[in-house]
Amino acid sequence: MSTVIEPRPATAAKDSGGGVKAYGAFAADRPLEPLDIERRAPGPRDVEIAIAFCGVCHSDLHTVRSEWEGTLYPCVPGHEIVGHVTAVGSEVGTFQVGDTVGVGCLVDSCRSCSACEEGLEQYCTGGFTGTYNGATQDPPGHTLGGYSQSIVVDEGYVLKITHPADQLAAVAPLLCAGITTYSPLRHWNAGPGKKVGIVGIGGLGHMGIKIAHAMGARTVAFTTSQSKREDARRLGADEVIVSRNPAEMEAHAGSFDFILDTVAASHDLDAFTQLLKRDGTLCLVGAPEHPHPTPNVGALIFQRRSIAGSLIGGLPETQEMLDFCAERGIVSDIEMIPAQSVDEAYERMLNSDVKYRFVIDIASLGTPAPKSLSGLTA
Ligand code: NAP
Ligand code: ZN
Ligand code: ZN
Repeated sequence: MSTVIEPRPATAAKDSGGGVKAYGAFAADRPLEPLDIERRAPGPRDVEIAIAFCGVCHSDLHTVRSEWEGTLYPCVPGHEIVGHVTAVGSEVGTFQVGDTVGVGCLVDSCRSCSACEEGLEQYCTGGFTGTYNGATQDPPGHTLGGYSQSIVVDEGYVLKITHPADQLAAVAPLLCAGITTYSPLRHWNAGPGKKVGIVGIGGLGHMGIKIAHAMGARTVAFTTSQSKREDARRLGADEVIVSRNPAEMEAHAGSFDFILDTVAASHDLDAFTQLLKRDGTLCLVGAPEHPHPTPNVGALIFQRRSIAGSLIGGLPETQEMLDFCAERGIVSDIEMIPAQSVDEAYERMLNSDVKYRFVIDIASLGTPAPKSLSGLTA
């Protein structure tokens, strides 16, 4: 299913940087297109990575199309990055040239606030630096993500990958979809004796089903797509509910300890809060362009139910999740695409037509651009 790009020979840190082929958008209403970008030469604590594969997250689409405010163009998305180390700075102790590594949603944070000190960099009070669309001194002044041939990242924000080499493409989505579901499932103690719901069987949701099942929870999948019923069971669901069917929903009223909602569009939350037990929690990880309708307060008050949110995961927990998945043989179900098909993939994702994560084969970007090319060119 996947091809693994052999590590490139080591390059001396001082010679690195220069033209790198990428795929990105110059405006919200323009398709993605090829562009050349520049990566900094690795500093003393930096790791330079030749990217082999990059997953396509719905957040990439939200950002590229400016559905959330504040997209900076050109926008090169991608935060489910796997590849091989091609150079390391003089002070890097954890990684060596040739190591298989990953980069997720964040590449820096303040490193001194209480969240950073606890390894919860995603909640950095100074604001973490996203792998794309984050502030940086590197050109062009904002970070550029993994739809590109290489990336240079501080070693503290690089993850070790121990899955077998032939699974590398299917590991990429763990870097966002995996950790975004693992972290709340851990936080709210999914495990034996708990009934856990996963709403939406897309990139995040299908990983949520696999991980909740592996944690030992009774796992129930909620889908709007009748056609995903069988797949959900194969992914590890003990039961599957088509959420558009009120009778199926009603049969589970008041029975869930925890429900994780991964839906990328605005929808009625009351349908799910009323399925929670007393003290149960509905945790939202989906971040739709338009707000959900205001939830019914009565359904929360009378059974002391909570609606919560959760954001990706910190570096230590992301490594824990990668190791958890490697030990259990858990990877994502993927459809490999060339970068040139990413707009089509976005449309299919909008139609819930992805089984269950698109992953870009970065070899499709071609051979590396000559070093003399630098800066951004359309
Ligand atoms: P995705 O692959 O598009 O999956 C979303 C799933 O939601 C769809 O497959 C579909 O599943 C369901 N769905 C879509 N439209 C729906 C609608 N109108 N009503 C009900 N269900 C609908 O997206 P993803 O990559 O998993 O991302 C999901 C969301 O999480 C996005 O908003 C993304 O930005 C966000 N996200 C948040 C974090 C975080 O840290 N909190 C991290 C990553 C992503 P069914 O066909 O099964 O119904
Ligand atoms: Zn993501
Ligand atoms: Zn911090």
